[in-house]
Amino acid sequence: MFKALVMEQDEAGLAQASLKEISEDQLPDGNVTVAVEYSTVNYKDGLCLSPKGGGLVRHYPHVPGIDYAGTVEASDDDRYKPGDKVVLTGWRVGEVTWGGYAQKARIDADKLVPLPDGLTTRQAMAVGTAGFTAMLAVMALEDHGMKPGQGPVLVTGAAGGVGSVATAILANLGYDVAAVTGRPDQAAYLKGLGASSIVPREELNETTKRPLEAETWAGCVDAVGGDMLARVLGQMKYGASVAAVGLAGGAALPATVIPFLLRGVNLLGIDSVMQPYDNRLRAWQRIARDLPMDKLEAMINPATLEDLPALGADILKGQVKGRVVVDVN
Ligand code: NDP
Repeated sequence: MFKALVMEQDEAGLAQASLKEISEDQLPDGNVTVAVEYSTVNYKDGLCLSPKGGGLVRHYPHVPGIDYAGTVEASDDDRYKPGDKVVLTGWRVGEVTWGGYAQKARIDADKLVPLPDGLTTRQAMAVGTAGFTAMLAVMALEDHGMKPGQGPVLVTGAAGGVGSVATAILANLGYDVAAVTGRPDQAAYLKGLGASSIVPREELNETTKRPLEAETWAGCVDAVGGDMLARVLGQMKYGASVAAVGLAGGAALPATVIPFLLRGVNLLGIDSVMQPYDNRLRAWQRIARDLPMDKLEAMINPATLEDLPALGADILKGQVKGRVVVDVN
Protein backbone atom coordinates (compact mmCIF):
# COMPACT_ATOMS: atom_id res chain seq x y z
CA MET A 1 0.00 0.00 0.00
CA PHE A 2 1.16 3.55 -0.63
CA LYS A 3 -0.11 7.14 -0.30
CA ALA A 4 -1.94 8.95 -3.11
CA LEU A 5 -4.07 12.06 -3.51
CA VAL A 6 -7.33 10.69 -4.90
CA MET A 7 -10.12 12.79 -6.46
CA GLU A 8 -13.61 11.34 -5.98
CA GLN A 9 -16.96 12.71 -7.12
CA ASP A 10 -19.81 13.49 -4.72
CA GLU A 11 -23.49 12.98 -5.57
CA ALA A 12 -23.60 16.34 -7.38
CA GLY A 13 -20.74 15.20 -9.61
CA LEU A 14 -18.18 17.54 -8.03
CA ALA A 15 -14.75 16.05 -7.32
CA GLN A 16 -12.88 16.48 -4.04
CA ALA A 17 -9.37 15.40 -3.17
CA SER A 18 -8.36 13.32 -0.16
CA LEU A 19 -5.26 11.39 0.86
CA LYS A 20 -5.77 7.62 0.62
CA GLU A 21 -3.78 4.42 0.91
CA ILE A 22 -4.00 2.55 -2.41
CA SER A 23 -2.46 -0.68 -3.69
CA GLU A 24 -0.22 -1.34 -6.68
CA ASP A 25 -2.89 -3.36 -8.50
CA GLN A 26 -4.97 -0.16 -8.77
CA LEU A 27 -2.26 1.52 -10.89
CA PRO A 28 -2.85 1.85 -14.64
CA ASP A 29 -1.24 -0.50 -17.19
CA GLY A 30 2.37 0.10 -18.20
CA ASN A 31 5.70 -1.70 -18.38
CA VAL A 32 7.63 0.46 -15.89
CA THR A 33 6.77 1.05 -12.21
CA VAL A 34 8.27 4.22 -10.74
CA ALA A 35 8.79 5.06 -7.07
CA VAL A 36 7.82 8.72 -7.30
CA GLU A 37 9.99 11.16 -5.35
CA TYR A 38 8.72 14.57 -6.45
CA SER A 39 5.86 16.08 -8.43
CA THR A 40 4.81 19.70 -9.00
CA VAL A 41 1.89 22.06 -9.67
CA ASN A 42 1.33 23.45 -13.15
CA TYR A 43 -1.65 25.50 -14.32
CA LYS A 44 -3.14 22.30 -15.77
CA ASP A 45 -2.80 20.58 -12.39
CA GLY A 46 -4.91 23.42 -10.98
CA LEU A 47 -7.59 22.53 -13.53
CA CYS A 48 -7.40 18.79 -12.75
CA LEU A 49 -7.66 19.50 -8.99
CA SER A 50 -10.77 21.66 -9.45
CA PRO A 51 -14.25 20.22 -8.68
CA LYS A 52 -15.11 19.76 -12.37
CA GLY A 53 -11.64 18.62 -13.42
CA GLY A 54 -11.27 21.58 -15.79
CA GLY A 55 -12.79 19.50 -18.61
CA LEU A 56 -9.58 17.43 -18.66
CA VAL A 57 -10.26 14.55 -16.25
CA ARG A 58 -12.27 11.75 -17.86
CA HIS A 59 -12.90 9.24 -15.05
CA TYR A 60 -13.07 9.18 -11.25
CA PRO A 61 -11.59 8.11 -8.89
CA HIS A 62 -8.56 9.94 -10.30
CA VAL A 63 -4.99 10.61 -9.20
CA PRO A 64 -3.84 13.95 -10.71
CA GLY A 65 -0.27 15.19 -11.20
CA ILE A 66 0.84 15.80 -14.81
CA ASP A 67 4.56 15.51 -13.94
CA TYR A 68 6.70 13.29 -11.77
CA ALA A 69 10.31 12.27 -11.23
CA GLY A 70 11.59 9.27 -9.34
CA THR A 71 13.40 5.94 -9.45
CA VAL A 72 12.47 2.89 -11.52
CA GLU A 73 11.29 0.13 -9.20
CA ALA A 74 10.42 -2.55 -11.80
CA SER A 75 10.72 -2.62 -15.59
CA ASP A 76 9.77 -5.02 -18.39
CA ASP A 77 11.48 -2.75 -20.92
CA ASP A 78 15.18 -3.09 -21.85
CA ARG A 79 15.74 0.68 -21.77
CA TYR A 80 15.10 0.95 -18.01
CA LYS A 81 16.24 -1.08 -15.01
CA PRO A 82 15.54 -0.76 -11.28
CA GLY A 83 17.44 2.16 -9.77
CA ASP A 84 17.35 4.35 -12.93
CA LYS A 85 16.24 7.95 -12.36
CA VAL A 86 13.44 9.08 -14.70
CA VAL A 87 11.23 12.07 -15.53
CA LEU A 88 7.69 12.06 -16.86
CA THR A 89 5.84 15.06 -18.31
CA GLY A 90 2.86 15.28 -20.63
CA TRP A 91 1.15 12.50 -22.65
CA ARG A 92 -2.08 13.49 -20.77
CA VAL A 93 -0.84 11.62 -17.71
CA GLY A 94 -2.58 13.08 -14.64
CA GLU A 95 -5.53 14.06 -16.87
CA VAL A 96 -6.75 10.98 -18.73
CA THR A 97 -4.63 8.45 -16.78
CA TRP A 98 -3.38 8.48 -13.19
CA GLY A 99 -0.47 10.80 -12.51
CA GLY A 100 2.24 11.78 -10.07
CA TYR A 101 0.39 12.78 -6.87
CA ALA A 102 1.21 9.37 -5.38
CA GLN A 103 4.21 7.47 -4.07
CA LYS A 104 4.09 5.09 -7.06
CA ALA A 105 3.15 5.39 -10.72
CA ARG A 106 3.06 3.03 -13.69
CA ILE A 107 3.74 4.08 -17.29
CA ASP A 108 4.91 2.86 -20.71
CA ALA A 109 8.67 3.20 -21.15
CA ASP A 110 8.15 5.18 -24.40
CA LYS A 111 6.81 8.09 -22.36
CA LEU A 112 9.71 8.34 -19.90
CA VAL A 113 12.89 10.37 -20.26
CA PRO A 114 16.07 9.40 -18.38
CA LEU A 115 16.99 12.08 -15.84
CA PRO A 116 19.74 14.12 -17.54
CA ASP A 117 23.19 14.17 -15.91
CA GLY A 118 23.55 17.08 -13.52
CA LEU A 119 19.87 17.22 -12.45
CA THR A 120 18.30 15.72 -9.31
CA THR A 121 14.70 14.48 -9.28
CA ARG A 122 13.83 17.50 -7.10
CA GLN A 123 15.37 19.91 -9.63
CA ALA A 124 13.60 18.11 -12.49
CA MET A 125 10.26 18.81 -10.79
CA ALA A 126 11.24 22.41 -10.08
CA VAL A 127 11.46 22.53 -13.89
CA GLY A 128 8.41 20.31 -14.62
CA THR A 129 6.10 20.83 -17.59
CA ALA A 130 6.24 24.60 -17.10
CA GLY A 131 10.04 24.77 -17.35
CA PHE A 132 10.27 22.10 -20.03
CA THR A 133 7.82 24.16 -22.12
CA ALA A 134 9.80 27.33 -21.49
CA MET A 135 12.87 25.53 -22.89
CA LEU A 136 10.91 24.31 -25.94
CA ALA A 137 9.83 27.91 -26.53
CA VAL A 138 13.41 29.23 -26.37
CA MET A 139 14.56 26.44 -28.72
CA ALA A 140 11.80 27.32 -31.22
CA LEU A 141 12.75 31.01 -31.12
CA GLU A 142 16.43 30.14 -31.69
CA ASP A 143 15.48 27.81 -34.56
CA HIS A 144 13.76 30.83 -36.13
CA GLY A 145 16.85 33.02 -35.94
CA MET A 146 16.72 34.70 -32.50
CA LYS A 147 20.19 35.51 -31.15
CA PRO A 148 21.48 37.61 -28.25
CA GLY A 149 22.18 41.22 -29.19
CA GLN A 150 19.15 41.73 -31.44
CA GLY A 151 17.16 43.66 -28.82
CA PRO A 152 15.02 42.91 -25.75
CA VAL A 153 13.12 39.61 -25.54
CA LEU A 154 9.71 39.81 -23.86
CA VAL A 155 8.47 37.18 -21.37
CA THR A 156 4.77 37.47 -20.41
CA GLY A 157 3.32 36.01 -17.20
CA ALA A 158 6.89 36.29 -15.99
CA ALA A 159 6.40 35.55 -12.28
CA GLY A 160 4.53 32.30 -13.10
CA GLY A 161 6.15 28.92 -13.76
CA VAL A 162 6.74 29.12 -17.52
CA GLY A 163 7.72 32.78 -17.26
CA SER A 164 10.18 32.33 -14.38
CA VAL A 165 12.08 29.52 -16.12
CA ALA A 166 12.03 31.31 -19.49
CA THR A 167 13.42 34.46 -17.83
CA ALA A 168 16.27 32.57 -16.13
CA ILE A 169 17.23 30.59 -19.27
CA LEU A 170 17.14 33.59 -21.61
CA ALA A 171 19.14 35.80 -19.23
CA ASN A 172 21.73 33.05 -18.80
CA LEU A 173 22.05 32.74 -22.60
CA GLY A 174 22.86 36.45 -22.81
CA TYR A 175 19.48 37.90 -23.81
CA ASP A 176 18.18 41.21 -22.54
CA VAL A 177 14.91 40.04 -20.89
CA ALA A 178 11.89 42.32 -20.42
CA ALA A 179 9.58 40.61 -17.90
CA VAL A 180 5.84 41.40 -17.98
CA THR A 181 4.09 41.01 -14.63
CA GLY A 182 0.84 42.03 -12.97
CA ARG A 183 2.56 41.70 -9.59
CA PRO A 184 4.85 44.74 -9.12
CA ASP A 185 5.98 43.27 -5.76
CA GLN A 186 7.72 40.50 -7.76
CA ALA A 187 10.10 42.93 -9.52
CA ALA A 188 13.05 42.05 -7.24
CA TYR A 189 12.40 38.31 -7.74
CA LEU A 190 12.34 38.73 -11.54
CA LYS A 191 15.51 40.86 -11.53
CA GLY A 192 17.12 38.15 -9.41
CA LEU A 193 16.30 35.63 -12.16
CA GLY A 194 18.08 37.90 -14.63
CA ALA A 195 15.37 40.19 -16.08
CA SER A 196 16.86 43.52 -17.16
CA SER A 197 13.54 45.40 -17.13
CA ILE A 198 10.01 44.99 -15.75
CA VAL A 199 6.97 45.80 -17.91
CA PRO A 200 3.73 46.39 -15.93
CA ARG A 201 0.90 44.15 -17.17
CA GLU A 202 -1.41 47.17 -17.69
CA GLU A 203 0.90 48.45 -20.45
CA LEU A 204 0.12 45.42 -22.63
CA ASN A 205 -3.25 43.97 -21.69
CA GLU A 206 -5.40 46.42 -23.59
CA THR A 207 -6.17 46.17 -27.27
CA THR A 208 -5.25 49.01 -29.59
CA LYS A 209 -6.77 49.99 -32.91
CA ARG A 210 -3.25 50.33 -34.35
CA PRO A 211 -2.19 47.01 -35.90
CA LEU A 212 1.49 48.06 -35.77
CA GLU A 213 3.33 49.91 -33.02
CA ALA A 214 7.04 50.72 -32.58
CA GLU A 215 9.30 47.71 -33.39
CA THR A 216 10.41 46.80 -29.87
CA TRP A 217 10.88 43.07 -29.17
CA ALA A 218 13.41 40.70 -30.77
CA GLY A 219 11.47 37.68 -29.49
CA CYS A 220 8.73 36.74 -27.04
CA VAL A 221 7.81 33.79 -24.83
CA ASP A 222 4.10 34.28 -24.23
CA ALA A 223 2.33 32.44 -21.38
CA VAL A 224 -0.70 34.76 -21.42
CA GLY A 225 -2.39 34.77 -24.87
CA GLY A 226 -5.53 36.87 -25.36
CA ASP A 227 -5.35 40.66 -25.66
CA MET A 228 -1.72 40.71 -24.55
CA LEU A 229 -0.53 38.39 -27.31
CA ALA A 230 -2.52 40.37 -29.89
CA ARG A 231 -0.89 43.60 -28.71
CA VAL A 232 2.63 42.12 -28.61
CA LEU A 233 2.40 40.88 -32.23
CA GLY A 234 2.18 44.50 -33.38
CA GLN A 235 5.29 45.43 -31.36
CA MET A 236 7.65 42.74 -32.71
CA LYS A 237 10.74 43.73 -34.67
CA TYR A 238 10.90 42.91 -38.37
CA GLY A 239 11.16 39.09 -38.86
CA ALA A 240 11.01 38.33 -35.11
CA SER A 241 9.05 35.46 -33.56
CA VAL A 242 6.61 34.93 -30.70
CA ALA A 243 6.40 31.50 -29.06
CA ALA A 244 2.76 31.04 -27.99
CA VAL A 245 2.81 28.84 -24.90
CA GLY A 246 -0.20 29.64 -22.74
CA LEU A 247 -3.58 31.20 -22.18
CA ALA A 248 -3.41 32.48 -18.60
CA GLY A 249 -5.02 35.72 -19.87
CA GLY A 250 -7.45 34.15 -22.36
CA ALA A 251 -7.75 31.87 -25.38
CA ALA A 252 -9.11 34.44 -27.85
CA LEU A 253 -6.68 36.19 -30.19
CA PRO A 254 -8.18 39.56 -31.19
CA ALA A 255 -5.40 40.42 -33.65
CA THR A 256 -4.96 41.40 -37.31
CA VAL A 257 -2.72 39.66 -39.84
CA ILE A 258 -0.85 42.94 -40.53
CA PRO A 259 2.26 42.11 -38.38
CA PHE A 260 2.66 38.85 -40.36
CA LEU A 261 2.28 40.56 -43.74
CA LEU A 262 4.20 43.80 -43.24
CA ARG A 263 6.84 42.75 -40.72
CA GLY A 264 7.25 39.03 -41.42
CA VAL A 265 6.49 38.28 -37.76
CA ASN A 266 6.21 34.56 -36.89
CA LEU A 267 3.78 33.07 -34.39
CA LEU A 268 5.18 29.72 -33.22
CA GLY A 269 2.91 27.23 -31.46
CA ILE A 270 4.48 25.33 -28.56
CA ASP A 271 3.05 22.02 -27.32
CA SER A 272 4.74 20.11 -24.53
CA VAL A 273 2.29 17.23 -24.22
CA MET A 274 2.86 15.22 -27.41
CA GLN A 275 6.49 16.24 -28.10
CA PRO A 276 8.44 13.43 -29.80
CA TYR A 277 11.09 11.66 -27.72
CA ASP A 278 14.17 13.10 -29.50
CA ASN A 279 13.08 16.67 -28.90
CA ARG A 280 12.19 15.90 -25.27
CA LEU A 281 15.69 14.57 -24.73
CA ARG A 282 17.21 17.60 -26.44
CA ALA A 283 15.14 19.98 -24.29
CA TRP A 284 16.02 18.23 -21.00
CA GLN A 285 19.72 18.25 -21.94
CA ARG A 286 19.52 21.97 -22.74
CA ILE A 287 17.79 22.57 -19.38
CA ALA A 288 20.64 20.83 -17.54
CA ARG A 289 23.11 23.01 -19.47
CA ASP A 290 21.39 26.41 -19.77
CA LEU A 291 19.28 26.84 -16.64
CA PRO A 292 21.42 28.04 -13.70
CA MET A 293 20.60 25.85 -10.69
CA ASP A 294 20.88 28.73 -8.19
CA LYS A 295 18.19 30.59 -10.14
CA LEU A 296 16.03 27.45 -10.21
CA GLU A 297 16.43 27.13 -6.43
CA ALA A 298 15.15 30.71 -6.01
CA MET A 299 11.89 29.73 -7.80
CA ILE A 300 11.06 26.76 -5.54
CA ASN A 301 8.13 26.65 -3.10
CA PRO A 302 8.27 23.30 -1.27
CA ALA A 303 4.97 21.45 -0.69
CA THR A 304 3.48 18.08 0.33
CA LEU A 305 0.52 16.07 -0.99
CA GLU A 306 -1.66 17.65 1.75
CA ASP A 307 -1.01 21.15 0.33
CA LEU A 308 -2.20 20.35 -3.19
CA PRO A 309 -5.92 21.23 -3.12
CA ALA A 310 -5.12 24.78 -1.90
CA LEU A 311 -2.21 25.20 -4.34
CA GLY A 312 -4.43 24.05 -7.24
CA ALA A 313 -6.90 26.84 -6.46
CA ASP A 314 -4.07 29.39 -6.06
CA ILE A 315 -2.46 28.67 -9.43
CA LEU A 316 -5.79 29.15 -11.23
CA LYS A 317 -5.98 32.62 -9.63
CA GLY A 318 -2.44 33.46 -10.84
CA GLN A 319 -1.21 33.54 -7.23
CA VAL A 320 1.61 31.00 -7.35
CA LYS A 321 5.09 32.47 -7.75
CA GLY A 322 7.70 30.43 -9.59
CA ARG A 323 7.56 26.66 -9.20
CA VAL A 324 6.05 24.37 -6.55
CA VAL A 325 7.99 21.18 -5.74
CA VAL A 326 5.86 18.49 -4.09
CA ASP A 327 7.68 15.90 -1.96
CA VAL A 328 5.25 12.96 -2.17
CA ASN A 329 6.98 10.94 0.58
P1 NDP B 1 1.28 30.10 -13.75
O1 NDP B 1 -0.04 30.36 -13.12
O2 NDP B 1 2.43 29.71 -12.89
O3 NDP B 1 1.73 31.41 -14.58
C1 NDP B 1 0.84 32.19 -15.33
C2 NDP B 1 1.19 33.65 -15.12
O4 NDP B 1 0.44 34.43 -16.06
C3 NDP B 1 0.76 34.19 -13.76
O5 NDP B 1 1.71 33.92 -12.76
C4 NDP B 1 0.65 35.67 -14.06
O6 NDP B 1 1.99 36.20 -14.08
C5 NDP B 1 0.14 35.70 -15.51
N1 NDP B 1 -1.31 35.91 -15.56
C6 NDP B 1 -2.27 35.23 -14.90
N2 NDP B 1 -3.50 35.69 -15.21
C7 NDP B 1 -3.29 36.70 -16.10
C8 NDP B 1 -4.18 37.58 -16.79
N3 NDP B 1 -5.50 37.53 -16.65
N4 NDP B 1 -3.63 38.48 -17.64
C9 NDP B 1 -2.28 38.56 -17.82
N5 NDP B 1 -1.41 37.75 -17.17
C10 NDP B 1 -1.92 36.84 -16.33
O7 NDP B 1 1.04 29.01 -14.88
P2 NDP B 1 2.15 28.20 -15.74
O8 NDP B 1 3.35 29.03 -15.86
O9 NDP B 1 2.22 26.81 -15.23
O10 NDP B 1 1.40 28.16 -17.15
C11 NDP B 1 1.24 29.36 -17.91
C12 NDP B 1 0.36 29.09 -19.12
O11 NDP B 1 1.01 28.23 -20.02
C13 NDP B 1 -0.97 28.42 -18.78
O12 NDP B 1 -1.98 28.96 -19.60
C14 NDP B 1 -0.73 26.97 -19.12
O13 NDP B 1 -1.91 26.28 -19.43
C15 NDP B 1 0.18 27.11 -20.32
N6 NDP B 1 1.05 25.96 -20.55
C16 NDP B 1 1.07 25.43 -21.79
C17 NDP B 1 1.89 24.39 -22.09
C18 NDP B 1 1.98 23.88 -23.48
O14 NDP B 1 2.36 22.73 -23.70
N7 NDP B 1 1.69 24.70 -24.46
C19 NDP B 1 2.69 23.73 -21.04
C20 NDP B 1 2.69 24.43 -19.77
C21 NDP B 1 1.85 25.49 -19.54
P3 NDP B 1 2.31 37.64 -13.40
O15 NDP B 1 1.75 37.56 -12.01
O16 NDP B 1 3.80 37.74 -13.47
O17 NDP B 1 1.60 38.65 -14.25
